[in-house]
Amino acid sequence: MRDVVKKFGQTTVLDGVDLTVHAGEVVVLIGPSGAGKSTLLRCINGLERINSGTITVGGQQLSYDEKSLNRVRSRIGMVFQSFNLFPHMKVIDNLTMAQTDVLGRSKQEARDRALELLERVGLADKARAYPDNLSGGQQQRVAIARALAMDPEVMLFDEPTSALDPELVGEVLQVMRTLADDGMTMVVVTHEMRFARKAADRVVLMADRGIAEAGTPEQVLEHPTSERGRAFLAELS
Ligand code: ATP
Ligand code: MG
Repeated sequence: MRDVVKKFGQTTVLDGVDLTVHAGEVVVLIGPSGAGKSTLLRCINGLERINSGTITVGGQQLSYDEKSLNRVRSRIGMVFQSFNLFPHMKVIDNLTMAQTDVLGRSKQEARDRALELLERVGLADKARAYPDNLSGGQQQRVAIARALAMDPEVMLFDEPTSALDPELVGEVLQVMRTLADDGMTMVVVTHEMRFARKAADRVVLMADRGIAEAGTPEQVLEHPTSERGRAFLAELS
C-alpha cells in the first residue's frame, strides 16, 4: 500500500498509509477499536474502495473494474470473525462449491482438495457434518480450509478468534501457526498477543488514522516508542 487514503464520507480513516507485506511474511495488525484495522484489510482485497494512493497485490495494481477485482480476490483468502459458512450445505460442499464454480475444477478434484485441507485443519471426520453441528472453533477451521481451497497467495484474517469461547481459541490459532510456518503470506488482525509474539514477523500498531509503530514483535510489544503505542499496550497489560 502506498500513501493510501480511505474516507467514509467526511471522516478520514486511513490517512496516507504505507505498508509492504513480503511474500511469506506474517504481519499482525493491532490497535484500538476504530483505528482502521478492518478497513485496511478490506481495502487490500477491494471490499472497500480507496480514495487515493495505490494498492498492489502480487505485482498487480488494484483497480475497481470487475475483472481486476475478481483477479485480486482470487489471489486472496479472507477469514472473518463470523465464520460465514453456508448452513444448509455440508462441510464438504462448503469447501467444494467455489472450487467448481469459480476455479472450474472437476467435482473429484475439488473433493480431493477439500478432504486434504480438512485433514490439515484436523477435521477429516467432519466432511459430512452440517456447520450447525460443529463447535465455533471447528466452524472457523472449516472457514480457513474453505479459503485455502482457492489456493490463495495471501490470507487475511480479521479477528478470527474473537467470537469464540476462550477454550476454542487455541485450536484455531494452532491452525494459523501451522499455516504461517508453512510460508503462507498472512495479514492478521488480532487481540491475541501471544499469537503476535510467536507467529508474527512484524507487528503493526494502528492508531490515529495510520500506522503508529511497526517492527518485530519484541520492538513493538515490549519497547513501543510512540505515545499511542505505549498507551494501547499499557491498557492490555
Ligand atoms: P475494531 O477493533 O473495533 O474492529 P477497527 O480498527 O477494525 O476497529 P474499522 O472497523 O476499520 O476499525 O473502522 C475504522 C473507522 O471507520 C471507525 O471510525 C468506523 O466507525 C468507520 N467505519 C468503518 N466502516 C464504515 C462504513 N462502512 N461506513 C462508515 N464508517 C465506517
Ligand atoms: Mg475491526
